[in-house]
Amino acid sequence: MSDKILLLNGRVFDGVSDQVRRQDVLVIGNRIAAVGVADVGDADIRRVDLGGRLLMPGLIDGHVHICGTELPIINATSSHWSYLSAFAFRQMERRLMSGFTSLRDMGGANVGIARALREGLVTGPRLFYSGKLLSQTGGHGDARPRDNDIAVVLGNCCSGSDKFAWVVDGVSAVRRAVREELRLGAHQIKIMASGGILSPTDPLHSLQFSESEIRAAVEEATNHGTYVSAHCHPAGAIRRCAEYGVRVIEHATMLDEAAAEAMVANGTYAMPTLALLGVLMREGRQMGLDDANMEKLHLVVSRAHDSLRLLRRHNIPAGFGTDLFGKAHGNEGSEFTQRLPVDRPLDILRSATAVNADILKRSQDLGHVAPGALADLIIVEGDPLEDIAIMENPDNIALVMLDGVIVKDRGIAMPGEHLPRPKFWQASAGTGF
Ligand SMILES: [Zn+2]
Repeated sequence: MSDKILLLNGRVFDGVSDQVRRQDVLVIGNRIAAVGVADVGDADIRRVDLGGRLLMPGLIDGHVHICGTELPIINATSSHWSYLSAFAFRQMERRLMSGFTSLRDMGGANVGIARALREGLVTGPRLFYSGKLLSQTGGHGDARPRDNDIAVVLGNCCSGSDKFAWVVDGVSAVRRAVREELRLGAHQIKIMASGGILSPTDPLHSLQFSESEIRAAVEEATNHGTYVSAHCHPAGAIRRCAEYGVRVIEHATMLDEAAAEAMVANGTYAMPTLALLGVLMREGRQMGLDDANMEKLHLVVSRAHDSLRLLRRHNIPAGFGTDLFGKAHGNEGSEFTQRLPVDRPLDILRSATAVNADILKRSQDLGHVAPGALADLIIVEGDPLEDIAIMENPDNIALVMLDGVIVKDRGIAMPGEHLPRPKFWQASAGTGF
């Protein structure tokens, strides 16, 4: 079969432009060969008529935990890898069918899952993993309940069985953990630099890791050619991380002017994650959050939209992340609508495509409909630039192309035939990176 596909009659959102244009897109192999081409009548080209539907770059979720099976987090971190992997594989399939062709995992997913993807044992989006994140003792990644007498052994909480976090203190321990994750192929290093909502013993406003520890992590990651991303809620944590060379601030929910200025001065990115907040407000109690967790949640929620507003006012590039855990998985689409009090639909779609690609340092390949980019594309029913709520429902993602291969098709490319078919699940899409 020809490896040339001409996607005809689409309305193209290219990931950046505020103009949606009627253009044809030619895919050869796994890359976009041309945009806006005239059909030259080449008999060797397979033609797919999009009938005026929206064609856009495959979505990128910039903050996921595909191994995040359950809450409280200690139950997930101490579960067996065989279960965590099965859960992750299911999440990856589901996200790909929802139009997400890349995932940036911020704690949990690792080299084994990436290998399974690369070898075609399982199917899913491109995976950019952090391996195990780094937390100080008693920090946001230390999952031990306050009254629980579990030792930290060799940097792992829970007697050496923690799948999500290194619990490390001191510069040399931090360096060793970073180097180990880089050895295991981590695409970025994740550190916990402030208190968090779901952790059991850390005040939300606590500043975590010392300056020398953060700078050591940044030095190691930079020497390797990558970067550090830091979980931060309070403005004080955001400001110092930006100053110490952290490249991406995860959540960034309680920004103030001084922190925003520090981000601008240092070229720091933000990765807002609102979906989880909405789900926890609705269902947090049933998910097991205690009074202290709920209090922290309310504080964060009271500031999150103002913080996003401040990011936009300062033109700080803001990505798109969901950060869902446990039973909250499945609510990823709400990230699109949770941003509406602040963002235009165009801003939200840019965040989920071109901005996230930039955060991944893969702007040349991902998040753009442009000649030379990888052919990760989706076709959407309706006009999300008018009504972003369309993106909440995965059924509106009519077609998904990953690496030049159509992996989901609701009767567009092959009328009367719907993907995924059983054959698809055996095919390797070669996406283990
Ligand atoms: Zn997270």
